[in-house]
Amino acid sequence: MASEEVIYTIAYMLICLCLVVPPNEFRSAGLTIQNIFSEWLGSENLDFVRYHIKRSTATILFHSILPLGYFLGYCFCLSNYDIILQPWKLPFTWQIATVISVILPIVASLLYFYWSRNDWKTHPIAVRVGHHGDSWQSIAAQIDVEFRRIDKFQTGPPGRRVIVTDSWVLQTSAYTLDIAQQEDVHLNTLESQNFNYTDESPVGVQFISLKVLSVNQNISPFVIRINAAEYSDFKAKLRTPIINVRNVIIQETLTERFSEAFREQVISNGVYRLTAGSEAPVSCIGCMQVQANIKLTKRCDEDNGGDCVSCNCRPMWCLTCMSKWFASRQNQDSPQQWMAGKSPCPTCRSKFCMLDVRLVAIPQ
Ligand SMILES: [Zn+2]
Ligand SMILES: [Zn+2]
Ligand SMILES: [Zn+2]
Repeated sequence: MASEEVIYTIAYMLICLCLVVPPNEFRSAGLTIQNIFSEWLGSENLDFVRYHIKRSTATILFHSILPLGYFLGYCFCLSNYDIILQPWKLPFTWQIATVISVILPIVASLLYFYWSRNDWKTHPIAVRVGHHGDSWQSIAAQIDVEFRRIDKFQTGPPGRRVIVTDSWVLQTSAYTLDIAQQEDVHLNTLESQNFNYTDESPVGVQFISLKVLSVNQNISPFVIRINAAEYSDFKAKLRTPIINVRNVIIQETLTERFSEAFREQVISNGVYRLTAGSEAPVSCIGCMQVQANIKLTKRCDEDNGGDCVSCNCRPMWCLTCMSKWFASRQNQDSPQQWMAGKSPCPTCRSKFCMLDVRLVAIPQ
């Protein structure tokens, strides 16, 4: 491939990626399918189900023309008309790719005509909604009414939102809408994912994956993802219990999430070895539940300067209590500063930072 073809291919792929998964800049410029087709889609707030039937159809139609767009752009931008004028001269893989790129929009258009007959009766979303009652329109009307209420629970990025209304659990995605009636479902926690430093929160974010299983045979299970910080609001809106057989630990509060980040930092700091013959640490004086296992010694690189002071206290605190103490001494309004913060030793008040905290290796 000549260099201009490579540049064209990369540029086209980048544009496609931005159209398929719009970054915030594209969203604020209104370059999303929802915006482009807004007239035809109608209002999500007034007609939630119909809106998503049309939105998913528009998404399929739009995505189906992207490969063809590549070949047409290739012809006209690079003035290389072989694809149109002499397709038999192209390499075999190109012939296959061009044929597929023509077939895709034809199939998508046929699907559109098939689905849109009889007021979208055959559209997969309408079929799924219809499994909950006599006609999809009557059930959709119930969902629409509940979606309009302001007390619904809603979370997730614009392209994949989880919505819990009084009687429904819904999840939007590019090509479909997952629907389950609350009274039919039970939820199982699957796993948790911890992201330690994100743009949103340097203290870390935890996401919980839950599987929504319906007793309605026609509704296939689906997986939703909830930010642990919103977990209690989510639970409050659910009328069905969440089953946690895998014992996924959910860090609902900021302190709990910070505690995890603190623990990881302390482990990476290495261990402090007690000198031979010294007494084993006593119970933690914070919780009295476990043996104290934290030693504070200045290790940060501000060797001669800085605020940190080596503390001479013997180990008196456990890791959990120390992380709670450290968090309590930080500015509660700016958790993004906590990891870089300092705290006085709870016993002697010498200042320390997270790099100075180590686990104690107990001599055997
Ligand atoms: Zn403790
Ligand atoms: Zn101390
Ligand atoms: Zn320090």
